[in-house]
Order: sequence, then structure tokens, then C-alpha cells
Amino acid sequence: MKHFLLYFTALVLLPFQLLSIEKNAMVEDIINNVNIDSLSHTIKILSGAEPYRAGDTTAIIKTRLFDSDDNLEAANFLMNKLSSYGLDAGLYECGIKCENVIAVQRGSEFPDIYVIIGAHFDSYSIQGGNAPGADDNATGSAVVMEAARLLSEQQTSYTVIYALWDAEESGMIGSGYYARQAKLNGDSVLVVINCDMLGWDGNNGNKMDIHTKNVGVSVRAADLCKELNELYEIGLNARIVNPGISSSDHESFLSRGISAIFLTEDHDVSHSDVNHTGSDLFENLTLDYYLKNAKLAIATISQFATGADSFISSVEDGDTAENSINVYPNPASEYSTIKLYLNESNYVDIEVYDSYGKLISNVYSGYPDAGHQSFNLSGINSFGSGVYYCTVLIGGMVQTKKLVVLR
Ligand SMILES: [Zn+2]
Repeated sequence: MKHFLLYFTALVLLPFQLLSIEKNAMVEDIINNVNIDSLSHTIKILSGAEPYRAGDTTAIIKTRLFDSDDNLEAANFLMNKLSSYGLDAGLYECGIKCENVIAVQRGSEFPDIYVIIGAHFDSYSIQGGNAPGADDNATGSAVVMEAARLLSEQQTSYTVIYALWDAEESGMIGSGYYARQAKLNGDSVLVVINCDMLGWDGNNGNKMDIHTKNVGVSVRAADLCKELNELYEIGLNARIVNPGISSSDHESFLSRGISAIFLTEDHDVSHSDVNHTGSDLFENLTLDYYLKNAKLAIATISQFATGADSFISSVEDGDTAENSINVYPNPASEYSTIKLYLNESNYVDIEVYDSYGKLISNVYSGYPDAGHQSFNLSGINSFGSGVYYCTVLIGGMVQTKKLVVLR
């Protein structure tokens, strides 16, 4: 009976693992170390509740209104703090008087593929210069800083970018500039996690939303984020909204075909009534709720930074990347080919997995020329009947195609 049960379990569960995730000791450790005092300290400094000390000088950041001196002070505070974690951090001009704060942590295995966690640090208020912006968006900024504090102690497979975008409130200028440059440079960005407003829970409902759109692997990334909330019992009432709202920095990426998700507090039932006023203060945040959001965002970037391989191999048919891919003939018996069209020469890696997630064949890895290319799925005549998954990685983007083999 025992043997039968084991066999039965393996048969039922293994194919499912292709679509799901397992606990990862490093991610779990990071979640357990997300610290509310550390998060609160950053929010208090950014929103003027505590002074910012640099060398001999002490300053209060009274506002983070774009183009104000205090906002530049905030940028310097964030950059210095990121540098203190040993990261390569700097201010990067993103327009007139616009300064993004960016820190880079090189991946050990895939240094040319980026995963990004970002938040805007500027604020806005209908009362002009009185714009403490504790929830909007010192909460998101502090999550990016906390992710940097914890992940910088680990070796990551992929390159992690910690981004604090300027001038979101003036039309997503900082993130727009960054996304445009990433596109021009041909950067391989696997996914962007945008954090904006994570600390308001007016009805103690623990509700939060993961907004996304059908771009690249975004929807699968949103699914994974939601799964992490359950897997690590973070305790949020998380919902995926697709198509989600466009009114934050993730839209700068989605609109350019780069995968992104947006984590934010519920705006339908418990919308912040102090948003964009001088009362958006630290004391109005719901800290236990905020801590949960911080854990989820940091779990998600940690999962991508270390275990994106499992994410990549679980992307299902129907996901779209920029370059189109076809498997023909399909179903197949003696032979099949993967045909793709490359807009430009790029790193391509093609593998075939069986329905248990086991690697069956390394078909190709290299840099083919731009244009139409086809790759023989050699050895298919030795495959048993069944469903197989061809994963095609082009730059940082992955598509998975089902291949049915009939005997
Ligand atoms: Zn915001």
C-alpha cells in the first residue's frame, strides 16, 4: 500500500511542480530577516520624522517634491545607504534635475540578465512643499532598501538592480528614462517589480493587489508572487489584477514590452484618505500590514534573483516574447524543428523537458545571426509518446512551447 501510494504521488505531483515552486532556504531566511525597525527607520528619514545624518551635518528631509533641494538630499541619502551595503550605487541623470538612484549587484551565473526591484522616491502634495509622502512612496522606497540590505549579503544567479526612480509624480520621468535606455542598450530584463504605496490598510483587511498586463512573462511573474504569499504563509489577501492599473512606474516598462508587476495596497475598498496631502505621515501607516507587503516584495525579488531557472522552465505555452517561435511539425513522430525569428543577434538557449520537468535534450546554445533560424530537435525519434516542453531563451526572455510526440 505504501509503495503504491508513493508511486501514485510521484505520478500526480511531479508534473505539477513544473508550474509551481518549492521552498528555498535562502528566500525563507531573507523573509525571516525582513525587519520592521529597519524599514521604519528609512521611512522616517525620508518623510522627515527623523533627521538624516551625513558626516557632521544633520538634515531634515521636509519634502521630496521633484526638483526640490530636499528631494536631492533624499537621493543622496538613498545612494549612500546602498553604497554602505557594498553595492555599486550612483545617481543617474534622467532629465533636467531628475536623478535616479541605481545600485547594481552582479549575478554569478547570468550577469547579463537583470531582475529589477524599484520604487519612486519623490513625493507630491496638494499642499505644495508639505509633502512627507510616507506611504506614497517612502514605503516602497524602504522595501527596495531592505531588499538591498538583505540580498547584498547573498550571491545571486542573476544581476539584481535596486532602483529608486525620481519624478514619478511628474509623469514617471525617472522610470521612463530608465526603461528607454534599457531598451536602447538591448538589456535583458527578466522582470521588474514595482513597489508603490504598501502601508495603508484602512479596514485591516490585509488586502493587496498585484497589477500586471499580458506582456512577456508578467502574468506568470504575478502568479509566482501570489504563490509565494501562500508558500511562505505571509498572510496577505493577495489578488492579481490583469489588466491592472497603469498609474505607476511599472507602466514605463510594460509599455515598452518589458515584463513587470506592480505591488500595491488595495485602492478599491480601503483607499488612503491622506494620499498626496501633508498628512501622509509615518504615524498613519499600518505597520504589521506593511511588513507583510515588504516580505512579499522581497521574497519575490529574492526568488527571481536566485531561482529564476525554475521560473523560466515553468512558463507555459501562450506566453509571448518579442521574438516569435514555432514548433513544426507538432504533433510529431520522427522529427520536428523549432523555427524562430530574431530581430537582432542575441543569446539563444533551447532545451527540451519532459512533463516531469526533467531535462531531456540540450538543443542549442549560442549566438545565431538575426533573421529566420531553425533548429532540429534531433533525437525526437527516441522520445516516447507524450507531451514535452521546449524552452527557448532569447536574451532574458523565455517562451515555452508544448511539443506532442506521437508514436
Ligand atoms: Zn506613488
